[in-house]
Amino acid sequence: MKIQTLFALWLTCFTTTIYGQRVDYAQDIIDTLCSDYYDGRGYVNMGDIKAATFISNEFKALHVQPAYKTGYFHSFGLDVNTFPGVVNISRSEAGRRPVQAGHDFIVASNCSSKSVESATLMAASNEVLGSRKTFKKLKKTDWSTTNTGNRNILLIDTLRDDKTIQKRLDKVLKRYSGDIKFQTQEKLTWSVGRTQTEQCVVHTKPGVFQSGDQVAIDIEAKFVENYRTWNVVGLIAGSERSDSFIFVTGHYDHLGRMGQQVIMPGANDNASGIAMMLDLANYYAQNRPRYTVVFVAFAGEEAGLVGSYHFVKQLKKVIPDPTRIRFVLNMDLMGSGQDGIMAVNGAVHTKEYELLSKINEENGYLPVTKKRGNSSNSDHYFFTQIGVPAFFFYLMGPYTHYHDVEDTSENLRLEKKAYDGAFNLLRTFADALMGG
Ligand SMILES: [Zn+2]
Repeated sequence: MKIQTLFALWLTCFTTTIYGQRVDYAQDIIDTLCSDYYDGRGYVNMGDIKAATFISNEFKALHVQPAYKTGYFHSFGLDVNTFPGVVNISRSEAGRRPVQAGHDFIVASNCSSKSVESATLMAASNEVLGSRKTFKKLKKTDWSTTNTGNRNILLIDTLRDDKTIQKRLDKVLKRYSGDIKFQTQEKLTWSVGRTQTEQCVVHTKPGVFQSGDQVAIDIEAKFVENYRTWNVVGLIAGSERSDSFIFVTGHYDHLGRMGQQVIMPGANDNASGIAMMLDLANYYAQNRPRYTVVFVAFAGEEAGLVGSYHFVKQLKKVIPDPTRIRFVLNMDLMGSGQDGIMAVNGAVHTKEYELLSKINEENGYLPVTKKRGNSSNSDHYFFTQIGVPAFFFYLMGPYTHYHDVEDTSENLRLEKKAYDGAFNLLRTFADALMGG
């Protein structure tokens, strides 16, 4: 066997091992951050703080330096509505399966506590609204609220695809005085509430509840003022131009718990982005970058980009001259890639976008790169508002679970080819921006 062949063989083994470790490492991070211990990285049981601590420990292990004299954490406060106790709806009809929180229904994230011993659901369906007789009967329903005895609750179960139906539903809603409303929805998509309202909407999958169903409702909500949470910030000093900066960012928070039974783990959103960020930190810890690379794991993104808003407000504490920031690579939804990558704000910074697409074409990392205009839908946004150039990257593919109980690490298994492609594309792009 010729020495070159031996060398080629050794090289193949070597790169296979490295790449194997790479995707395994990322999957490991996702599995960890999505485990029950982290409570969906929200505000119940301090899931966010536990996740921030995990990330800071990972930084430490990778020799990423703390960005502040006090350490890795940048603390800020936010008002947030939480569901730490019971969130339960039961149906009294015998013989039907129990209603499952998270799968069959979710409560709107701004709900206040509700306790209803017994209520009858009255459906505003196409069928009911379509007939003058049943519509009139529904309109005249007694909607008065009481916690003792039985009361009536409206179940909106129509697509409003017809003008008459829409008009009639509006008339019913105008007269509706109940503080709880059921509404059917094909896809249950949860969020983080920043306020608490008297009216509570219960979103349910079609077919779960029917008109005439007797239900009991128990919702424990707790509004927390000025909850303290933490961004996690670290850096690897540049070898040649340490006063120039590349930012690699992603949010680690997710929606947390909806009661004791339901966790929203947020595997794709955005344990996957944190996995990619830590993997890039891992890479740069071993391959010293030319510029200083700053890694930020943001909190409070799902509550409305709160973490990145506060971070950018105090940016000068970390970077006294923000014009030294060459670029921000923000990653949110990094779990797929089989259908390529999107650069949000790519249509604004065309030179950098062309660089990205050229690197991809030359190396065949991902099937396609795409660009969009700017949008206030992830943590890159407040950087762009002070003139710091930034892309928000998300990967595209068949994975569709989003803000629900299905976005789990069991469902999100990274595909090696797509993951490696995305990693290598982002890494090569960052190196090119640093003039490497
Ligand atoms: Zn997200």
